[in-house]
Formats: sequence, C-alpha cells, structure tokens
Amino acid sequence: MVTGYIHSIETMGTVDNGGIRFVLFLQGCALRCRFCHNPDTWLTKGKAVTVEEIIDQLIDYKPFFDLSGGGLTVSGGEPLLQPAFVKELFIKAGELGIHRVLDTSGYCRHGNFLEVLPHTDRIIFSIKVIDPEKHRRLTDTGNEEILKNLQEAVNSAAELVVCYVLIPTINDTDRDVWDLSQLIRSFQRKVPVQVLPYHKMGVVKWRELGLRDPLEKIPPASPEQVKDFQQQLVKKGVEIYH
Ligand code: SF4
Repeated sequence: MVTGYIHSIETMGTVDNGGIRFVLFLQGCALRCRFCHNPDTWLTKGKAVTVEEIIDQLIDYKPFFDLSGGGLTVSGGEPLLQPAFVKELFIKAGELGIHRVLDTSGYCRHGNFLEVLPHTDRIIFSIKVIDPEKHRRLTDTGNEEILKNLQEAVNSAAELVVCYVLIPTINDTDRDVWDLSQLIRSFQRKVPVQVLPYHKMGVVKWRELGLRDPLEKIPPASPEQVKDFQQQLVKKGVEIYH
C-alpha cells in the first residue's frame, strides 16, 4: 500500500486542462518561486492518503470524466517528489481508463521523472524562465535539471504543454521571448505554450505564513500583456495553447 502526502483535493475542478477533473495537490516542493500562489504546499508534511483511498474516490467520478472528457490531474507542490505514489496512482487510474495529467515544475531527480513518465497521458510542464541566472533569482535554483527533464518529456509518448506564468518586468523581455521560442523550436515535435498571467491571489497565503510577498511591487499581468507575449511567440514560430 503506497502512501502519499497531500495538501488538498479539488473535485469537479474544470479549469485544469480539459473536462471535469479530480485535482490532487501533493505536498512538498523544493523550488521557492517568488510568484508561488501555493507556498503552503512547500513543506513535505501533509495529509497521508493511500493510492487505494484515492482510487475509491476516483471510481465515483468516472461517469463525469467519461461524459466531459476529464480525468485525474496530479499537481502540487511538486508531485514528482513522491514518484512511487504518483506512479502507482497513475497505473491504477490507467487500468480504470481514467485520463492522467501530470502538472509539474520538472524540479526533481531525473530518475523520479522517468519513473512516472510512462504512465502519464499529458504533461503540463511549467517553465519559469530560460535564462539560468534569472531562474536562480526567481526560484532560488538553477534550471539545468528542469530542462533535462523537459527534454525527457519531449521524447516521451505523452501529450505535452509548456506552461509559462508571465510576470511583468521579470520574465517578459524580448530576450525572454527569444530564449523561450528558441528552446521550443529546438524540440523534435510541436509543443504548444500556455501563457498564464501572474496574479496576486496567493499573496494572502504568504502573509498567513508570516512571509513578505517578494514581488509586492510587481503588478499582475494584464490580458493585453499576455496577448502581446503570445503574439511575439507566434511570430517566432511557437504554437499557443488556449
Ligand atoms: S514550483 Fe509551483 S509550488 Fe513550487 S514554488 Fe514554484 S510555483 Fe510554488
């Protein structure tokens, strides 16, 4: 019986990538993104659940998944810090014909990534910024391992979407557009990019944790800024995921 540590469950979630979805937020993340809207998922201590307990719940939602084209989404925190749990869960969900989405930052051991990848139908891979120094300033960590895992995702059979949270003045320069488009275009297959606006909804959680919002001077990204960034990517040959 494999146990995982979770932050929360959102049932009937419809935003996360197609149809009605059962979204499982796992506890624990080793990145420290300045824009994180779930800093309460950082520490590894969460509610213990077994794969069987989650599968029992998923079975009840199966008719809704089938009608809406939905399924299971595992998010976080970073789900791949608990690879044995996610692997087992995805295998069992797959046996039941439930669609499996992995929402990841890619910041985990390469082996963890390889363990879960064969049992995943779609990967939402969040890239923060390409420039390694900027990445370090934005997340406290370099992105070498992340880009290595992204290449592994590209090589896999899973459907893949790269997700990019657009943060005004932080990762929205011409250079950032160029770097991102060059990376995406270097892949051997088409990988669409989803551009999401930076928002301030997580700020309240930073306060609750007694932390100062490190981006307090940065405003949310406007729809116009998102559109402009998307258009710049399109001009450089990148497909946009809507
Ligand atoms: S990877 Fe996600 S959960 Fe982890 S710090 Fe960054 S935004 Fe937060």
